[in-house]
Amino acid sequence: MQRTTAFLAIPAATFLPGLIQRATELELAVSDTPRGKSVNMFYGTLEVIDTGPSTTVELTSADGAQLVSLRETLSWHLDQAGLNHCVTWAKMRVGANPANMALGRVARVLDISPNFRRIRLAGDYTRFLNGGLHFRLLIGPEGADWPTADDTGGTVWPGGVEAWHRPAYTVRDICPEGRWIDFDLFRHEGGRAHDWSGTLSPGQEVGLTGPGGTGLSEAPWIGLFGDETALPAVIRMIRGAPEGTVGEAVILVPTEADIQRVACPPGITLRWALRERGDTLIDAFRAARVPDGPRYVYFASEKAEAAAAREHGAALGLKRGELHALAYWTAD
Ligand SMILES: Cc1cc2nc3c(=O)[nH]c(=O)nc-3n(C[C@H](O)[C@H](O)[C@H](O)COP(=O)(O)OP(=O)(O)OC[C@H]3O[C@@H](n4cnc5c(N)ncnc54)[C@H](O)[C@@H]3O)c2cc1C
Repeated sequence: MQRTTAFLAIPAATFLPGLIQRATELELAVSDTPRGKSVNMFYGTLEVIDTGPSTTVELTSADGAQLVSLRETLSWHLDQAGLNHCVTWAKMRVGANPANMALGRVARVLDISPNFRRIRLAGDYTRFLNGGLHFRLLIGPEGADWPTADDTGGTVWPGGVEAWHRPAYTVRDICPEGRWIDFDLFRHEGGRAHDWSGTLSPGQEVGLTGPGGTGLSEAPWIGLFGDETALPAVIRMIRGAPEGTVGEAVILVPTEADIQRVACPPGITLRWALRERGDTLIDAFRAARVPDGPRYVYFASEKAEAAAAREHGAALGLKRGELHALAYWTAD
C-alpha cells in the first residue's frame, strides 16, 4: 500500500458533498470511518478528516502509480470547485519521474490495415498485466523533457500541463512478462496522435501514464459495442470474459479490409459493422437481443452516439451497473 496526505485550508463542507455526489454517480462506495468519511475512487481510497476550519485527506492506493492517479483525481475535483490553491501536499520520497509514468522505446510501427496503425513499445509494463486496460500517451511540446516528480509526488509538466497532448489508448496486447505492449491507433483525419505516430522510429523513447480506467465487468450475458477507437477494448473484453459467458459483440470499422482476426470463446459471437456499408453502432445496439436476466452492456463510441446508447439502455430498462456507455472521442 502507498499513502500520501493532502492538507486543505478549507472546511470539509466546502468540497465533500460534491465529492460524495461524484462518487455516487460513478457507483463508488462512500462510508463513515471513526475519523470522517471514506470515499472509494477507481485508484484507491480518500479518507476525508474534518479538522474544523481545515481538512486532512489521506490517500491510500495499492501502488505508487495508482497513488499518482488518485492524487490527480482529487486535484481534478478540487480544480472543478476552484479550490486547488487551498491544498498542500505532504512531502514524500519519490523517483525522478511520476510513479504512474512508464518510459519505453518504439519496437515497431506497422500499418496493419487501411485505417489502423499498430505500435509496439518495449519497456517495463508489468503493472499493465492487471487492472485498467487504458493509458495516456504523453505528447509534449517540441523539445520538452519528460515530466518529473516533485518532492510531494506531484507531476511537474515541462511547459505546463496544458502544453501536453494526452490522448487515451488501450493496451491491445501485452507480453506475458510485461516487457512490451501493442496498441492500435485509428488513423482519423486531423489526429495529433496520428501525426505524432508518423514521426516514430525504432528505439525512440515514448512516455505514457497508466494503467487507467476500469477493468473487465462480468455478467453471464454481455453485449459489447465499440467503434474503431474501442476495437482494442472490445477485443480485450472478449478475451477476458470468464468461461461460460455468452453474448454478442459488434465492432464498427471503416472498411472490410480493416476487419481483424479475433478468436472468440464459444458463447460469444462477434460481428463486424462497416461504415462503408452505412452501418452504425447505435443501430447494432438497437438490433441486439438483450436478455432480461443478469446482463452487462459496454458501448463505447463518439460522445453523441454514447448519449443515444444511454437513452436506448434506459428504454430497455438497463439499471445502474448494467450499462456503461462511454464517449471515447468527441466530434467537432
Ligand atoms: C478509455 C479510452 C480508450 C481509447 N482507446 C483508443 C485506442 O486504443 N485506439 C484509438 O485509436 N483510440 C482510442 N481512444 C480514442 C482516442 O483517445 C481519441 O480518438 C483521441 O481524440 C485521439 O487523439 P488524436 O490526437 O488522434 O486526436 P485529437 O487531436 O484529440 O483530435 C483531433 C480531431 O480529431 C477528431 N477525432 C478524434 N477522434 C476521432 C475519431 N475516432 N474519428 C474521427 N475523428 C476523431 C476530433 O474531433 C478532432 O477534430 C480511446 C479513448 C478512450 C476515452
